Amino acid sequence: MAADKQLSQPVTALKGVGDKVAERLIKIGVQQVQDLLFHLPLRYQDRTRLMPLGALRLQQEVLIEGVIQLSQVKFGRRRSLLCHVSDGTGAIILRFFHFSKAQQQQLTKGRRIRCFGEVRNGPASLEMVHPEYQLLAEEGAVPVENELTPVYPTTEGLHQLSLRKLIKQALSCLDQETMPELLIDGARLHQSAEYSLVDALQYVHQPPPDAPVQQLLDRHHPAQKRLAYEELLAQQLTMKKLRAQTQHHTAPVLQAKQDKRQALLDVLPFPLTQAQKRVTHEILQDMAEPRPMQRLVQGDVGSGKTVVAALAAIEAVASGCQAVMMAPTELLAEQHFRTFVNWLSPMNIEVGWCAGKQTTSERKQMLARLQAGEISVAVGTHALFQDEVVFNNLGLVIIDEQHRFGVHQRLALRDKGCDIDSMPHQLVMTATPIPRTLAMTAYADLNISVIDEMPPGRTPVTTVVLPDNRRHDVIERVYAACQQQRQVYWVCTLIEESEHLQCQAAEDTATSLQDSLPDLRIGLVHGRMKTKDKDTVMTAFKEGQLDMLVATTVIEVGVDVPNASLMVIENAERLGLAQLHQLRGRVGRGQIESHCVLMYHPPLSENGQARLKCLRETNDGFKIAQRDLEIRGPGEVLGTRQTGLPQFRVADLIDDQDLLSVMDNAANVMLKEAPKQADALVNRWFAHKIDFGNV
Ligand code: ADP
Ligand code: MG
Repeated sequence: MAADKQLSQPVTALKGVGDKVAERLIKIGVQQVQDLLFHLPLRYQDRTRLMPLGALRLQQEVLIEGVIQLSQVKFGRRRSLLCHVSDGTGAIILRFFHFSKAQQQQLTKGRRIRCFGEVRNGPASLEMVHPEYQLLAEEGAVPVENELTPVYPTTEGLHQLSLRKLIKQALSCLDQETMPELLIDGARLHQSAEYSLVDALQYVHQPPPDAPVQQLLDRHHPAQKRLAYEELLAQQLTMKKLRAQTQHHTAPVLQAKQDKRQALLDVLPFPLTQAQKRVTHEILQDMAEPRPMQRLVQGDVGSGKTVVAALAAIEAVASGCQAVMMAPTELLAEQHFRTFVNWLSPMNIEVGWCAGKQTTSERKQMLARLQAGEISVAVGTHALFQDEVVFNNLGLVIIDEQHRFGVHQRLALRDKGCDIDSMPHQLVMTATPIPRTLAMTAYADLNISVIDEMPPGRTPVTTVVLPDNRRHDVIERVYAACQQQRQVYWVCTLIEESEHLQCQAAEDTATSLQDSLPDLRIGLVHGRMKTKDKDTVMTAFKEGQLDMLVATTVIEVGVDVPNASLMVIENAERLGLAQLHQLRGRVGRGQIESHCVLMYHPPLSENGQARLKCLRETNDGFKIAQRDLEIRGPGEVLGTRQTGLPQFRVADLIDDQDLLSVMDNAANVMLKEAPKQADALVNRWFAHKIDFGNV
C-alpha cells in the first residue's frame, strides 16, 4: 500500500525534485511519479558493448576504447585539439573545438580512453567530435552498462541525465502491486501477451543489451505495442462510457408514415443515390428507437448529405417533435436555411433562422416562436447554443461539418432537448473522410454511416499546381473561362489567423484583379461583411450576375454554384489538405469540366510539395484524408481538442493503426467481464485528461 502511494504521489516526493524541476516536468506532462513511467524514450544509446575501431560505421553512436597515439593542437579555420586513438583493429580521431588547458594536459599520448559519441567523416579519417569521454587506468577491464541507455524527450532546463535519474527512481517503485495488471485474458493483445504492463514499462525504459534496437526505434517492439494498446483501450473505454451514459436516457420515438418523406422525394429533381438511401434508412431505424441516436454520417464534399438531413428532419416533425440543424459558418447555415425553406415550407413545415448577426427584434420573435413550438425546424450557427434558445419539444439535433465543433458543443446542443431522463436524437455529418479505424477511435461514442457514392454526372476536377510568379497566366485563364460564360472563384488565404487581415487581403486582391480584368464583373465576400451584403453578393454570383467571386476561406463549406468551373486558391501551401479538398469541392458540381489552380509562393518545402502533389493526383476524399493524416498527424486533421481524442502519451494513431481494429472488441470484453478494471484503466491513463463536461 505504501508503495502504491508512491506512484500516485506528486513528483516532488522524489529525491532531487524541487519546485523548479517540478515546473519543468509539468511541461512534459509529468505531475505524478507514475507519469514518469509513461514518459517513454525517444531512442536508445548502446553503451553495453565496446565497438572495435575497425568495425565503425558512419553515423553510428557507439562506445569505443583505445590508446591515444598522438595528441596535437591544429590551427586551421578553427583551432582544435585532435587526439588520434587506436585499439589494434583500427583508429579514429577525437576532435575538440573547445578545450581547457587541463584537458589538453590530460589527453596525452599513451593514455587509455573510453568515449561515447557519433562516428563522422573527418577530413583525414573517421572522427568523433566532442565525445563524452572517460580516462581509464592503464590496466584492467572497466565494466560497461548492463542496459541500453534511454534518451528521453525533455525540455529546456531539464537535463537528460537528471530526467534519466528521476525515471530510474520511479522505476524502483514499480511492481505488480503498485501497478496492477488490469487487462483480463480476453482483452489482451495477442502479439504481446507475454508482457504485463510492468514488464513492458521496465523493458522500454531499460532494454537488455540484446534488445532489437531497430525494432524499438521503429516502435514495433511487442513491449511498446503493449503500452500503446493499453492506452488506446483506455481511450476507447472512455468513449464507450460516454456512449453508455447517453444510452441510459430515453429518446422520443420518431417514426412517421413514408408519405411525408415521399413528398420531398417527389419534388427533388433527382433520385437518391443508393448510398443516400442506405444511410437514410440507417438513420430512420435509429430514430424509431426509444434510445438517443448517436450517428455520424461521413460523406465527401458533394455526396449529398443535406437531403439526408432534411429527410431526418421531416421524420422528426411528422412525429410531433422539433429538429435543429447547426452549421459552422453563417454562410453555410444560411444556405441550409434557404434549402430547407425551399424543401419544407411547401409541406407546411415552418423553418426558423438563428444566427449571431440577427437584429434583436428578429431574434426575439424567432426565439418566442421556437419556444412556443410554432417553428418546427431551426437552422443556424453556434448562436443556437446560447441559453436563451429554448425549444418546445426538441427531438432531433443535426450538426453539419462536425469537425468544426468540439465534443462539448455537440453535447451542449443535445442537452437543450434534455429533461430528466429524455434526450434528443443526434445526427452529425462530416465531409472529412476519416479512415474507418480512426473514426472508430475518435468518434467511438457514435455509430458511423458512410455515403460512399457521388451523385451521377459529376466531372472530376482537374487540378494544377503553379508558383505565384505565374499569376499573370492564371489571370489569363480566368479571363478565358469567363469568356466561355463560366464563373470563377478566387480564394485568398493568409497565414495570419486574424480575420481582419484576411478580409483586407481579399479586398486588395479584388481591387487588383478588377484592375487587371476591367471587363469582368467581380464580387467580394469575406467574414466581416454584413450578412445582408454577403447574401446579396452570393446571390448575384449564384444567379450569374457576377463572373468572379473573390473570397476568403468562408466559402469553404457547402455553397453550391454549378456553373462555377474554375477555382484559384492563393497560398495553397498554407492550408491543410482536407481544407483544400473542401474548397475544391465548390467546383465540379455540374456537368462542365472544371479546374482548380493551386498557387503557391516559392520556394515550396518538400512537405508542401508532397501535399499539393497529392491533391493534383486524386479527387478521392478518403485517399486525401489518409495522406493528410500521414503528413500532418491525426491531431491536426481532426483537431485534437475538437474531438474526443486526447493527447496520447504512448500511442500514435498512424503507427498503431493496426491496433485500432481490435480495440472495439477488447473494450466490449472489458466492459462486460471486468467493469471495475475498465474503470481503473480509464483512471490510470486519462484520470484528468478528458473532460466532457456534464454528461
Ligand atoms: P454535401 O454532402 O457536400 O453537403 P450537398 O448536400 O450540398 O452535398 O449536395 C451537393 C449537390 O448535389 C447539391 O446541389 C444537391 O442538390 C445535389 N445532389 C444531392 N443528392 C443528389 C443526387 N442523388 N443526385 C443528383 N444530385 C444530388
Ligand atoms: Mg454540406
